[in-house]
Amino acid sequence: MARRGHVPFRLCAGCGRRVAKRELVRFTVQGDGREVVLDREGARAGRGAYLCASFSCFEQALKKKSLLRRLRAAAVTPDLKEDFMRLLENAGKKE
Ligand SMILES: [Zn+2]
Repeated sequence: MARRGHVPFRLCAGCGRRVAKRELVRFTVQGDGREVVLDREGARAGRGAYLCASFSCFEQALKKKSLLRRLRAAAVTPDLKEDFMRLLENAGKKE
């Protein structure tokens, strides 16, 4: 039985803060090229990395290459930034 009130936390790969997992965006790697992709459902198998739903965290993570390191990925997909921006826009619309 799951304990009520238990909130899983993860580290943001951008700012490094501990944030409730449900408020984070999950990333994972895909394909032979080991490219970083957005995991919209948060349910893909394998190694994951997390970012706050914030563009500054995204930029920090790219600059520090922390997303690549955490995922042991070779590169990010060319569309990753656009995908992330779209996700932020959609998340904003829901509230
Ligand atoms: Zn962050």
